[in-house]
Amino acid sequence: MHRLKAAWAIAIGLGIATPVMAAGVSGASALNFTRRAVEFGPRPPGTPANTALQNYIIAELKKDGCEIIEDAFVANTPKGKIAMKNIIAKFPGKSGKAIALTGHFDTKLLPGKFVGADDGGSSTGLLLELARVFARQPRVDDLYLAFFDGEEAFGEWSANDSLYGSKHLAERWGKDGTLKRIKGLINLDMIGDKNLNIPQETNGDASLRRLVWSMAASLGYKAYFTDQQIGEDDDHMPFVRAGVPAIDVIDVDYTPWHTDGDTMDKISAQSLEIVGTVIYESVLRLEHQ
Ligand SMILES: [Zn+2]
Repeated sequence: MHRLKAAWAIAIGLGIATPVMAAGVSGASALNFTRRAVEFGPRPPGTPANTALQNYIIAELKKDGCEIIEDAFVANTPKGKIAMKNIIAKFPGKSGKAIALTGHFDTKLLPGKFVGADDGGSSTGLLLELARVFARQPRVDDLYLAFFDGEEAFGEWSANDSLYGSKHLAERWGKDGTLKRIKGLINLDMIGDKNLNIPQETNGDASLRRLVWSMAASLGYKAYFTDQQIGEDDDHMPFVRAGVPAIDVIDVDYTPWHTDGDTMDKISAQSLEIVGTVIYESVLRLEHQ
């Protein structure tokens, strides 16, 4: 017994008693963060579950030693005024330039029990995993990880009823000068599908898209980042309209989309790790150009 205790004491003293995590993006860790988010149940803006998830995101980000910005606002929706909050993690660099990774954490208000494992969950989980990985490195550019509230429409999707959080942050960052500093913004949405295939969203910035797709090809992931082209209105668009080089990484081909079938068994650690690794490496390349 005593000998065992001594061994543990030595191990802790040497810092080898902490769990061993790979240096890069872990799909298992991203999936675990996603599961924790999904366990809050349906998370439309203004609900207690949405607030509980905000608090979970903030608690996790606190472990990463970043600056945490809580961007609270009130949105005019078809359901009336609803309090929403974006959460932004900032990892400061020295160049004066900035890179942003974004995604939404809310789920669509639907009858039934829509928990959005892929749609809302996967973006939350992967952003938390990326925060964990980036936290342990010095940064060249400021790195922002923005978790958007209110991506989903309350009624039929329209210019007025959608993208509440990203529109709000684009406006805030326009006023405070952040937009002008952004070299690239990559939005992540529905990136956990077991059957991963990400088409090229062409409303976004072509040169940033080429950088990410060529990174995917060089990592051996060409099969998952396809040549198919689509146009999609998503959280990147308020930034595209404001002149920011922004793209959307989204797997729109997802059968349980906006149904109660969007559950954890439909998504995989492997898909999260593939997308996370491509995004991670793309950020490093962006920092050095
Ligand atoms: Zn959705």
